[in-house]
Amino acid sequence: MTCEIAIVGSGPAGYTAAIYAARAGLQTIVIAGSEPGGQLTKTSEVENFPGYPEGILGPEMMEDLRRQAERFGTQVIYDVVEHAVLTAQPKRLRLSSGEEIVAEAVIIATGSSAKWLGLEAERRLYGAGVSACAVCDGFFYRGQPVAVVGGGDTACEEALYLSKLCSEVHLLVRRDKMRASKIMQDRVKSTPNIHIHWNTVTLDILGEKFVEGVRVRNVQSGEETVLPIRGFFVAIGHQPNTEIFRGQIELDENGYIITHPKSTHTNVEGVFAAGDVQDPVYRQAVTAAGTGCMAALDAERWLSQRRYLLQQAENSVS
Ligand code: NDP
Repeated sequence: MTCEIAIVGSGPAGYTAAIYAARAGLQTIVIAGSEPGGQLTKTSEVENFPGYPEGILGPEMMEDLRRQAERFGTQVIYDVVEHAVLTAQPKRLRLSSGEEIVAEAVIIATGSSAKWLGLEAERRLYGAGVSACAVCDGFFYRGQPVAVVGGGDTACEEALYLSKLCSEVHLLVRRDKMRASKIMQDRVKSTPNIHIHWNTVTLDILGEKFVEGVRVRNVQSGEETVLPIRGFFVAIGHQPNTEIFRGQIELDENGYIITHPKSTHTNVEGVFAAGDVQDPVYRQAVTAAGTGCMAALDAERWLSQRRYLLQQAENSVS
């Protein structure tokens, strides 16, 4: 199957790119990936996406974005890209069905995935107290005690954000030191309602239908404690979904795609990146949608320029 723009990923970045690209009259395909709709399909209510004064359920919002993209002619393929050739022109994407998508330009919007501890309770209570995003879900636990796991900048940022909403924040750090920058550590340490539990690992999250507590162990003393909490925030890092592009496209040391400053261009001609796959800092639906829009505009301009140059070359030959 051929198209002008292939978009890999169907979160807010991918669908926003599709809305802009298809509306510009470009033949646009979205390959939805293993989690159609992206991370928002796993959250409950989204209250911070502009335009929804009463909030909206994450899956419903993604359904709206999909329909909006399809309205302008986007074709959505529910499959996964298994192999990509980006450095040649045209670009080729092989899907798990065996089908090949041949595209003039590619927008990578494969997002990132939160890392989890691997506890059974994390899955069971996901969206019912367990979260990997304080900005998304912290509001639901205002005035209540919560826990944050991790010792990096993300964990500190989540703990500080939650400290303004929640009665108490228990920061669970597995070693006797944090990996976070000194300034973030200092802020956390000087916030009265953040309690740091050093050398502490999570054994289990308690509760059947919603989180009621967390059982932790101090790895030095061996002492086990139950902390009564309502929200459990895992902040042990994110993994950008870039494995299939490794070796072809420039990534930073954490695997995020590097884009040129103030644009979505990557180091490969005709390949653009949008959303969390190129953003370790903001990671919001609205910022992802913003860069999705930028990627479609960048891709559209790149295609026009390329066609113009090809036409010029053809004219000079004839
Ligand atoms: P990091 O990899 O920096 O930190 C992960 C933390 O989680 C570490 O403290 C690690 O512990 C801990 N951890 C890992 N696995 C487990 C586990 N199974 N159980 C308990 N704890 C665990 O990830 P971040 O997401 O914090 O940061 C990623 C990058 O993004 C960093 O470069 C960071 O500086 C940057 N960032 C920048 C921000 C900003 O500038 N505003 C905000 C957020 C992130 P251990 O140290 O023992 O391995």
